[in-house]
Amino acid sequence: MIDVVLKKGKEKAVLHRHPWVFSGAIEAVKGKPANGDIVRLLNAKGDFMAYGFYNDQSRVALRLLEWDEQVTVDEDWFRNKVAVAVAGRNELLDSGVTNTCRLIFSESDYLPGLIVDKYADHLAVQVLTSGIENVMPVIIDELRRLLKPTSIFDKSDASSRQHEGLETANVVVFGDNPPESVEVKENNIIYNINIAGGQKSGFYCDQRDNRKIVASYAKGKKVLDCFSYTGGFTLNALHNGAESVTSVDSSALAIETLKENIKLNKLDTKEHIAIQSDVNKQLRVFREEGEMFDIIILDPPKYAPSRSALDRASRAYKDLNRLAMLLLNNGGLLATYSCSGAMNMETFKQVIAWAALDAGKQVQFIYQFCQPEDHPVRSSFPEGEYLKGLLCRVF
Ligand code: SAH
Repeated sequence: MIDVVLKKGKEKAVLHRHPWVFSGAIEAVKGKPANGDIVRLLNAKGDFMAYGFYNDQSRVALRLLEWDEQVTVDEDWFRNKVAVAVAGRNELLDSGVTNTCRLIFSESDYLPGLIVDKYADHLAVQVLTSGIENVMPVIIDELRRLLKPTSIFDKSDASSRQHEGLETANVVVFGDNPPESVEVKENNIIYNINIAGGQKSGFYCDQRDNRKIVASYAKGKKVLDCFSYTGGFTLNALHNGAESVTSVDSSALAIETLKENIKLNKLDTKEHIAIQSDVNKQLRVFREEGEMFDIIILDPPKYAPSRSALDRASRAYKDLNRLAMLLLNNGGLLATYSCSGAMNMETFKQVIAWAALDAGKQVQFIYQFCQPEDHPVRSSFPEGEYLKGLLCRVF
C-alpha cells in the first residue's frame, strides 16, 4: 500500500476524523497510486494517521475511511458499512407508512461518494468517487444480499463525478430496467417515480418530515406550493384538507407527474391548480392579479453551490422570499427552505430578516426545519448538513 505524507501542521482535521484531505495539505506521495486506490496517510513524522481513497484529479485528494491501523479496509469492511447504514433505516421503513428513503448518504454513512436511494423494491445508486467506483461490485452484491431488490439503477449523472475524472452513467446494474413509473409510498401518500428520467435520483425524500409538518397547518387554508416538483408538499396539504393548493414548477414533466400523483391518491382535483412557469415570474403575476394565500412554500433548487456563490445566492433567496411575503394574508405562513450547504441557518435567518424589511413585513420564526434521519449529519463532517428551513408567521 502506498504512503501519502501530510504537511506539518495539517493534522488537526484528520485527528478530528474529518474525512477530507485537500491536495494542498499533502507533502509527498511515496509512489504512484492509481485514482481510487486505498493509501496510508502518515503525518510529517511518519506515524500512521488513516487509510483513505486517493484521487489526484480531485481537490479532495484523499477521502478517509478508517483511522485504526489494525483494521483492514477490505471487502468485508465495505460490506459492514453498507449493512450498518441499511440497518440505520430500519425504524423508518418498519413503520410501514414509508417505503422510499435514502439508504446510504455518502460521507455521513462512512462511504465517501456513495449514495443509495430506495424506491419500493428498486434501488438507485450514485457513485461520485473513483474509490467507490472500484468497490461497486462488492457494494451491489451486499445491497442485493440485504435488500433483495428487483433492480439497481446507476444514476451517476452528477456533475461532481467530473471532478473525479469519471464518466456519467445512466444504466441498470442489476435486474431489468426499472419501469418508467415506480409507485412508492411516503407517509402513506403515493407517488409515481421515474427513476431513470426524474431529477436527482427521482424524488426528493429529504423533505419527508417537513412536508408533513407544513401540511399540519394546511386544513381549510389556501396554499401556494412553489418549486413543487412532483407534488410532495402539494399532496400532503391536500391530504390534510387544504381548501385549495396551487403548485408552480418550471418542469413540464414534474407538473404532469404531479397531476398523476393527485389522481393516484384519489384527492379532489377541484381544489388544485398546476402552473408550469418560472416561480419568480409567477409570483409577480399573482401580485399583479391581487391573488393572496394563507400558506406559501418555497423549496427552490440549490442557489449556492459553493461558499463563493453565497453573496449572489443570498440576494436571490432574499428576493424570492420578499415576493412571497407580499402574497401572504396577514398572519399567514411562509415555509421557506435552502438546500445550499454553503448557507447555514444563521445566514438564512438573516436573509429572511432582510426580505421582511424590504417587504415591509414582520416575521416570527415559529419552527426550524432540518434534514431527516435518513440524511444523517456525521459529527466529524458538518458539510453533510445542507437542508434547512424556517416556518415564518408573516404580519
Ligand atoms: N418541493 C419539491 C422539490 C423541489 S426541487 C418536493 O417536495 O418534491 C426544485 C424544483 O424547482 C424542481 O422541480 C425544478 O424543476 C424547479 N425549478 C427550478 N428552478 C425553477 C424556477 N425558476 N421556477 C420554477 N421551478 C423551478
